[in-house]
Amino acid sequence: MNNKKRLIITIDGPAGVGKSTVSKTIAKRLQLKHIDSGAIYRAITYKVLTGQVLGTVQGAIKGNGNNGSTLSEDDIVTIARQVKIEYKTSDRIVLDGDEVTKQIRSQEVTRCVSTVAAYKGVRDVVVNILKRLAADGGVVMEGRDIGSVVLPDADFKFYLDATLQERARRRYEELKRSDKDVELYKIQLEIKHRDKQDSSREIAPLIMDPGAAYIDTSILTLKEVISLIIRKIDFILKIDSMVFFNSSNPFYYMVCFVLKLFYTKYFGLNIQGLENIPATGGVLLVCNHLSHLDPPAVAVSIPRQASYIARSSLFTVKPLFGWLLKRLNSYPINRDGIDRDVFKRVITLLDNGKICLAFPEGTRSKTGQLQPAKPGIGMIISMAKNEGVRFSVIPCRISGSDKAFPPDAKWVKKYPIILNYGKPIDISDLLVKQDRQTYQAIADRIMEHIGEIGV
Ligand code: C5P
Repeated sequence: MNNKKRLIITIDGPAGVGKSTVSKTIAKRLQLKHIDSGAIYRAITYKVLTGQVLGTVQGAIKGNGNNGSTLSEDDIVTIARQVKIEYKTSDRIVLDGDEVTKQIRSQEVTRCVSTVAAYKGVRDVVVNILKRLAADGGVVMEGRDIGSVVLPDADFKFYLDATLQERARRRYEELKRSDKDVELYKIQLEIKHRDKQDSSREIAPLIMDPGAAYIDTSILTLKEVISLIIRKIDFILKIDSMVFFNSSNPFYYMVCFVLKLFYTKYFGLNIQGLENIPATGGVLLVCNHLSHLDPPAVAVSIPRQASYIARSSLFTVKPLFGWLLKRLNSYPINRDGIDRDVFKRVITLLDNGKICLAFPEGTRSKTGQLQPAKPGIGMIISMAKNEGVRFSVIPCRISGSDKAFPPDAKWVKKYPIILNYGKPIDISDLLVKQDRQTYQAIADRIMEHIGEIGV
């Protein structure tokens, strides 16, 4: 991951959204290989079309069956298996020895490619080619199912979207440069038709992988989309290189040692229920939030090193404090708790058997009472469990920290802080559905368990 040269980045999205330009530029900037998966489906479609009398093939491709003179699905799959495709670069595709880079962009191919790409046999062939191309990493691959099916373990996944009208307009501007007769409404119809076919097919339809960052590009310029993606990648790579991800972090232990003395002597830190925290394996600690004293209190109370997710403004308002937080295994979270990049980090940490602390309420309670939880925590748990990550969800109730450091106070005062860890929370019955209501139900259950611990 820290070696940029081996990064795998996926960019999926519907037709005409600008994936190719964005992917090509990102690949160039990060010195990675750009792979346009659609070009391979197009190359196979071109082979199918050129091998036959056009009308006959279109009849067959439209699903008119195999009546002896037309091509059946099996015929098309056979062609896909036999054809030799050399992906030299995204601007140089060689098919059975002939360069077909321009031909595969023809209107004929564009019209038929979604039908050919819907056949399972064809997809199997292409997915194999794509996996081989990405085997050594160092790629930006674009398509429809790259993040979800072809490269599900990619380091970064993006899903670009835009309104149909905007995509048609972009494609129109692009085609107009070489073809004066091009008509906007026809392009819009063609894109709409392709969208429908690509999203409704049975195998590997166009969907957004839950781990992908969604970017609506409708009102963004190309430059803005590219810089957004590059900033996201750089940001996470920087954090990864700061956190000692696989080894323990000696700085963390040093800070905890000093803080523990302070918390024990000054606040008389009282820790209960530590036996509920497994000695090994992934653990998601979910704690109510009263004060800035809470994360360090948890850190010093447990025998294992933990990672933290914290509001992104904490990292930016005071740069030195932000630097310290990162050195202490903290990850900034954006957008009201729904930040897929951070979610992915947390899931990876849990998958690596680490402990993560999260505050489901999102902010500190102003009253000292428990607050409703945000759905973000439910989403993390649901995504992780549905990806097969094994970890325990342990509730933690903190009390006294709001009195020890009230929100408007300048400095802390002596007041006992109590931390109480509860039994693992079972949310297995809430994993069937992945929608906002279910995420909220998981979050609510967590708060119930925290409430049951009592003070
Ligand atoms: O990206 P492009 O528009 O060139 O892709 C052409 C077609 O290839 C798409 O409309 C889609 O039917 C198919 N395709 C696919 N899966 C991919 C890439 C492209 O089904 N990963």
